[in-house]
Amino acid sequence: MNKVLIIGGGISGLTVAYWLQKNGLDVTLFEKDMRPGGSIRTEKEEGYLIECGPNSTLDIYKEVDDLCNELGIINEKIFTNSGTKNRYVIRDGRLRPLPTGPFQFLTTDLWSIKGKIRLFGEPFVSKYSGTSDESIADFVRRRAGQEFLDYAIDPFVTGVFAGDPTRLSIKSCFPKMYSLEKEYGSLVKGAMFGRKKKEGPKRKMRLVSFRDGLQTIPDTISKALGDRFIKGCSITSVKRTGDEFEVTSEKNRVSMTFRTNKVVIATPAWVTANIIHPISELAASYLMDIEYIPVAIVFTGFNKKSITRNLDGFGFLIPSKESKLRGYNLLGSIWSSVIFQGRAPEDMVAFTNMLGGARDTEILEYKDPELIDMTLKDLKNILNIEDKPEFIRIIRQPRAIPQYTLGHQERINTIKMELINIPGLYLAGNYINGVSVGHCIAEATKLAKKISTGY
Ligand SMILES: Cc1cc2nc3c(=O)[nH]c(=O)nc-3n(C[C@H](O)[C@H](O)[C@H](O)COP(=O)(O)OP(=O)(O)OC[C@H]3O[C@@H](n4cnc5c(N)ncnc54)[C@H](O)[C@@H]3O)c2cc1C
Repeated sequence: MNKVLIIGGGISGLTVAYWLQKNGLDVTLFEKDMRPGGSIRTEKEEGYLIECGPNSTLDIYKEVDDLCNELGIINEKIFTNSGTKNRYVIRDGRLRPLPTGPFQFLTTDLWSIKGKIRLFGEPFVSKYSGTSDESIADFVRRRAGQEFLDYAIDPFVTGVFAGDPTRLSIKSCFPKMYSLEKEYGSLVKGAMFGRKKKEGPKRKMRLVSFRDGLQTIPDTISKALGDRFIKGCSITSVKRTGDEFEVTSEKNRVSMTFRTNKVVIATPAWVTANIIHPISELAASYLMDIEYIPVAIVFTGFNKKSITRNLDGFGFLIPSKESKLRGYNLLGSIWSSVIFQGRAPEDMVAFTNMLGGARDTEILEYKDPELIDMTLKDLKNILNIEDKPEFIRIIRQPRAIPQYTLGHQERINTIKMELINIPGLYLAGNYINGVSVGHCIAEATKLAKKISTGY
């Protein structure tokens, strides 16, 4: 029997399924919802293209290009418009561009002179001598000082994890940064010498999406899978009987059981915990410990005439320190129609405004008018927008992004050790080793290769 059952039709499960069928394996993918994509969800309404989850991903993964080439969608990729290089961070209530080069590091008003001197001392800070997992906040404060943490890394962590740097693990969230210290004793030295050592063509650090939004990838994969993609079908449990797995599904209140000797579970951690509980209580309990944070998105469409400032960037992020000082509710705002073509009608400007995350885990308790008020108040204070938006759409993501809190790597290692005793059972998904869409595709591609070749 060369049949593989895949559970979960987010980008991780879809990518595994696609490459396995391509390698000649007999796959069936079960997805709870009526559409593929999971967190990736693009909707179109009144001339707007609304990303209800990720807006873009970094164009640095060869695996993403390989997949897009295979699917015939490589020419649908779009990149950030020129003139959107600036990434703004709020300090003292004002937008300030993040420096992008050494000269800007010297001249920026994002950090004080004292903060810059502390930053330039980074190469002389000794390596971490402790043995316990270090938080992002402790790591950055120790190496580069409080200001760099407050006005560079804290907003960056918000942009990626919507998380709290005092609770997240540097080793798990930013393994490259962590290993620069391990290998070179300094981030600055590592960035300089590591760059020289790097082989192969250098890829531009730019963001990518698709003409019709990120949904293009899941839609194209699900079409390629055809009737091997079973939508609206929830898996309730996976049990082990001898060498086989017994997978129980529920669709339209009808329960069915399938037998197979290979299963890939690509659902969120807490769902995976419930599914595999009959096989491994230990793995299930570690999976349950992985936290998620909620995110609310208030997508707004303003008339261009309402915007007085030059929108010459990607958008802005608000450091948690500024939120506390000035009572901001937004985590940040992506200027969606500025960075990508075709996101708003001709005379309009679309912003994807994010709220909640680890800063406000109760965010989804607020009613729509309250979320709108919070958003418009911050946009007025930061961008001087007095007018009301002509289009608003609210999206609630209750368990949006997994948090790699302290001890994450050890939790994942324990789960992996447990799986060694259960051959044929594989886990995939954004809670393991990277949350970005590109990372999920890269990891899922590796997993498909491992299953196909047995290595
Ligand atoms: C608001 C938001 C903004 C983001 N922004 C970005 C960004 O700008 N750039 C970026 O790169 N990444 C971003 N991300 C992260 C990225 O989108 C996700 O990490 C990634 O899409 C996760 O893919 P996945 O397949 O691992 O998991 P998911 O997308 O969660 O897929 C899991 C799938 O399993 C299904 N499922 C659940 N239970 C069952 C069951 N019992 N049976 C069958 N199926 C089941 C679900 O319906 C879902 O389709 C963002 C995420 C969110 C939520």
